[in-house]
Amino acid sequence: MFTPDQVRRYSRHMLMPEVGAEGQLKLLDAKVLMIGAGGLGSPSAYYLAAAGVGTIGLVDHDVVDESNLQRQILHDVERVGTPKVDSARQTLEGLNPDMNVITYDEVINSENAMRLIADYGIVVNGCDNFPTRYLVNDACVLLGKPMVDGSVLKFDGMVTVFMPGKGCYRCMYPAPPPPELAPNCAEAGVLGVVPGVIGVLQATEVVKLIIGIGDILESRLLTWDALEMEFITYKRARKDDCPVCGDEPSITELIDYEQFCGMPAPSKEEAEVSAV
Ligand SMILES: [Zn+2]
Repeated sequence: MFTPDQVRRYSRHMLMPEVGAEGQLKLLDAKVLMIGAGGLGSPSAYYLAAAGVGTIGLVDHDVVDESNLQRQILHDVERVGTPKVDSARQTLEGLNPDMNVITYDEVINSENAMRLIADYGIVVNGCDNFPTRYLVNDACVLLGKPMVDGSVLKFDGMVTVFMPGKGCYRCMYPAPPPPELAPNCAEAGVLGVVPGVIGVLQATEVVKLIIGIGDILESRLLTWDALEMEFITYKRARKDDCPVCGDEPSITELIDYEQFCGMPAPSKEEAEVSAV
């Protein structure tokens, strides 16, 4: 069932009884969709590819910019100006040719989100704008897909896992903040290592979910303050009156998220407002 190459490549996984050959087969069979091949998607996809996740989908409409290289470790100087999904694919396949990378060089929106997400078992959210965050949340709830969510700004980051039936982003934040109170990394900055840590935590949760080991952050929100070097875990819960995952949801299909958030989602023309 394994090729000799695979036995060598994944030996450190298979040595552990908690993972074993069975766990490695689950990884090889898994399909994970990354929303964004930027600051969070880079470390996350890199480790998932190394772990042998069999299919990784990458959604990103942006091209590599010099200002990305401070943290987006899938890309390099040679690929400045090329589509991020192509650059990411090249790096991931270079690390592990034993997996499939499927690229979507497009903006995820209400028209394509259900189609993009439906094919995958787990979604890793690495976007950094509110319209996309609510869009991906609602699509995952409607499709019953687990979403491993991460966000970063300046010296802080957070990660949580939204499992079907266990609450969603709207249970935590029913409405987005006013645009003037919601700076993104392009406006406020981010210490380059912060998305590195949060993206690897996201990848950790994905691997655990696939193999079926450990405690997932499914009813918890983990925050990290890099300056204080402090991790804090908060309990979070599903809300019965959540408009999308509650008992009587008012949102039963995708809506207009730019209108809902009162701010634009990134377009092909606004490349600077993209994945972290
Ligand atoms: Zn909810």
